[in-house]
Amino acid sequence: GVRLEGLRRQFGSLRALDGLDLDMAPGELVALLGPSGCGKTTALRILAGLEDADSGRIVVGGKDIANVPANRRDMGMVFQAYSLFPHLTAAENVEFGLRLRRQNAATRRQRAREVLELVGLGAHGDRYPQQLSGGQQQRVALARALAIQPQVLLLDEPLSALDAKVRVQLREEIRRIQLEVGTTTLFVTHDQEEALAIADRVGVMRAGRLEQIGSPEDIYRSPATPFVAEFVGLSN
Ligand code: ATP
Repeated sequence: GVRLEGLRRQFGSLRALDGLDLDMAPGELVALLGPSGCGKTTALRILAGLEDADSGRIVVGGKDIANVPANRRDMGMVFQAYSLFPHLTAAENVEFGLRLRRQNAATRRQRAREVLELVGLGAHGDRYPQQLSGGQQQRVALARALAIQPQVLLLDEPLSALDAKVRVQLREEIRRIQLEVGTTTLFVTHDQEEALAIADRVGVMRAGRLEQIGSPEDIYRSPATPFVAEFVGLSN
């Protein structure tokens, strides 16, 4: 599992994270939900090692990883969009991460085929990103993230550039795949419907800390504060 303890991060006078605590059980999918600027992306970047916390602890699989550099943390990431290399095919994009891990060509090709199959793109490995729809590109990005069999999967608004219908299809797909591979997953979103639909637990953030965390049903039916009630009750 993953444990974030008392994470703080300040940019100038702005407190992006103000004592964030979060526990994730092995295999769990937690959605971090909150308005723009509440610190969701900062939390994810600190977990990934792309950003340092000013203070606090990051424990993954029982080990404090605060001093482990990003490239040695065992994490797969998917961002909002446009993160594939345009000059590489889908399969080459997936293999890219494996190459950094010094796996041989045959192993890489085999693994790329497997994960593209897993995300429903077994037949599209030779296509370039511009020959794929936005939803298909995000599937490739997910395949690339999963290829390394990460300990933790980090998804930062992976659906928000897609149109509504594709967004709903793909979130169901992501959930199916996540259950299949069993990877502990942090899913950042500002979309309450999406968070409630996809997560085992939803953590509602406000001003750099968790305001409430619970099952989608808890969050929806028993909001702990007026802020949660209003934010979760909002329709986008
Ligand atoms: P959004 O959905 O808009 O990305 P968020 O909840 O993910 O919002 P963060 O991106 O974590 O929020 O940002 C939290 C706050 O920290 C924001 O006010 C943001 O402007 C600020 N911030 C984030 N990164 C930096 C940085 N590198 N330098 C200065 N300020 C930053």
